[in-house]
Amino acid sequence: MNQVTEAELRASFVNCTRGERARIALPGPLATVDFDRLDFLGWRDPKAPDRACLVTQAGDRLVGIVLRAAAKSAKSLTKSTMCSLCMTLHASSGVALFSAPLAGAAGRNGNSVGTYMCADLQCSLYVRGLRKSDAIGRMNETIDQAERVDRLRRQVGLFIDNVLASNLV
Ligand SMILES: [Zn+2]
Repeated sequence: MNQVTEAELRASFVNCTRGERARIALPGPLATVDFDRLDFLGWRDPKAPDRACLVTQAGDRLVGIVLRAAAKSAKSLTKSTMCSLCMTLHASSGVALFSAPLAGAAGRNGNSVGTYMCADLQCSLYVRGLRKSDAIGRMNETIDQAERVDRLRRQVGLFIDNVLASNLV
């Protein structure tokens, strides 16, 4: 994705109120972020780790989604899980179920969409082999890195579409 500014980031959020948007904790210094290797910018709020954000380009528009991580169930600690955006297999602590309120009235009425994602939101690094998952039996995928990047972008696009869909109703 392209370099973005803090003001652009803050203005990008589509599924929260104006007050929430003003309070979102932005990630560390953007000057140190290598945007060339990111399909989306994702981060957890260091002060409220159940909150997370995902910002990406959708066409020529920057779209930010606020997310909330679900509390872990004890049962999930025993099995590996897969990120539904980048398809990386993790030990269960490496994947979290995030829910995103829908944009617009549907979200204000309490509707949300949930998806399993890399808990650190670094899918872009996993698909490029720049970060390794802690899963023991890593899946042997037959597709190459460029295809994994394409698939990640498609999945992120679908997720954004799901969050925005309420605006079409
Ligand atoms: Zn992922």
